[in-house]
Amino acid sequence: MNGLGDRRLPVDHHLHIPLCGHADGMPAEYVAAAGALAGVGFSDHLPYLEPAMADPALAMSWDDLPVYLGGVRRLREESDTPVLLGIEADYFPGQESRLANILGELPLDYVYGAVHWVGDWPFDDSRHRRRYEGADINKLFRDYYGLVAGMAASGLFDVWAHPDLPKKFGYRPAEPVYDDEDVALEAVAAAGMVIEVNTSGLRKPAREIYPSLGLLRRACAAGIPVTFGSDAHRPGEVGHEFKRAVTLAREAGYRTYTTFSRREKVGLTLP
Ligand SMILES: [Zn+2]
Ligand SMILES: [Zn+2]
Repeated sequence: MNGLGDRRLPVDHHLHIPLCGHADGMPAEYVAAAGALAGVGFSDHLPYLEPAMADPALAMSWDDLPVYLGGVRRLREESDTPVLLGIEADYFPGQESRLANILGELPLDYVYGAVHWVGDWPFDDSRHRRRYEGADINKLFRDYYGLVAGMAASGLFDVWAHPDLPKKFGYRPAEPVYDDEDVALEAVAAAGMVIEVNTSGLRKPAREIYPSLGLLRRACAAGIPVTFGSDAHRPGEVGHEFKRAVTLAREAGYRTYTTFSRREKVGLTLP
């Protein structure tokens, strides 16, 4: 990767490709869109471990997984732009040992840990958006942060993906849930995980980067390193609003950011 003092915009670690069933564009087109970025990293959705949860609109199939790994590694060899190989894996309590076995076999640079489900509710799936009507939003956020703490404690993940995702459709807790956020932050810090600044919230009804400045400030104060992702699901979204993301990180107190190689953290200076 690039040395300290790189003035380019950060590596975009969070790119999806059509294997997950809800993205567009060829992988090479994502790399070609890197422009002013220091590099790109793919992190498509790992298949669900529970066969009953398999949904071709949410994640790649097990048959697609070697296609994904091989395709990204080929791109890495062919491209002048640095290309990293990551994955986004869902955290579900009780699946830890199976997930550990799978992740241990994969030649990844990093693993995004994501909580997209609270109980049986895939709360960031627009097909289930109506469940917000009448839902206890505070409870959704509290349950979400509790799951994030469990995710961190599992020790299986490198990055906390899209940290305050339950705000995606514009719903916010009626009162702050600082205690629950703190439980998550403490667990993430203790696990040595990195927090993601994810610009996709700007493209959603939340109209805000994940996480909020307040949460990111407390992550910085807790000593949690930061990384960056656009959550691109099409080439035109690669590096989306990264200047704004860097500004947010600086405002929160960060002066460096983290990228990865073979699941080791690599520190770089923020531009
Ligand atoms: Zn996705
Ligand atoms: Zn996600």
